[in-house]
Amino acid sequence: MSESTAVTQTTDEAEQGVETGALYCANHPEVETLLRCNKCGKPICLKCAVQTPVGYRCRECVRQQQDVYFNAADWDNVIAFGVGFLITLVATPLTSAILGRMFFFGIIIALFIGASAGGILAQIIRWAVGKRRGRYLPLFALGGVVLGFLMGSVGLGLLFGVLTIPSIPMLIFAFLAITTAYQFLR
Ligand SMILES: [Zn+2]
Ligand SMILES: [Zn+2]
Repeated sequence: MSESTAVTQTTDEAEQGVETGALYCANHPEVETLLRCNKCGKPICLKCAVQTPVGYRCRECVRQQQDVYFNAADWDNVIAFGVGFLITLVATPLTSAILGRMFFFGIIIALFIGASAGGILAQIIRWAVGKRRGRYLPLFALGGVVLGFLMGSVGLGLLFGVLTIPSIPMLIFAFLAITTAYQFLR
C-alpha cells in the first residue's frame, strides 16, 4: 500500500532502485549513495547492497528471505552430523578393506564411484532431516562425515592398537565422496 503512494513519480531509473537526489546509506551515514533496497526502500551504499536476481537489496532483507528458505530446526544440524558420522564410520572400514586390496585397480574404482557414493550419502542425510534446508546444515554434515572417516580409518586402527593409514585408493575415494556430498547438500 505504502509502495503505491511512493512510486507516484516513478521513472525508469527509480524502478531500478537508482535515484538522482543525494541519499545517505542507512548503515554508513557518512556514505552518499544513489541506491535503495528494492524491497524495504532503505538507502544503501554499494558495500551494503547485495545483488539478487530481482535487483539490489539490503543485507537485512536478503537475510529475511533466507530465513524463509532455511526451514531447518536446530535439531536437524545434530541429525545431519550424526547420520553423516555413523554412515561414514561404518562405510569407511568396509570400503577401505575392498579398495585397499586392489591397489592400482582400486584407484580406478575410487575415481569411478567416489562421487556417486558422495551423492548417495548426501541424499541419505537430506532424507534424514526431512529435506529441510539449514544455513549451517551442510557444515554440520561435513563435520560428521569427516569425523566418521577419520574414526573409521585411523581411529578404529588405534582402538585395536595398530596405526592404520588410509590407502591411496581410499583417500581418493573419500576426497571425491566428501566433496561431492558437501556440494549436494549446499
Ligand atoms: Zn531492505
Ligand atoms: Zn553502507
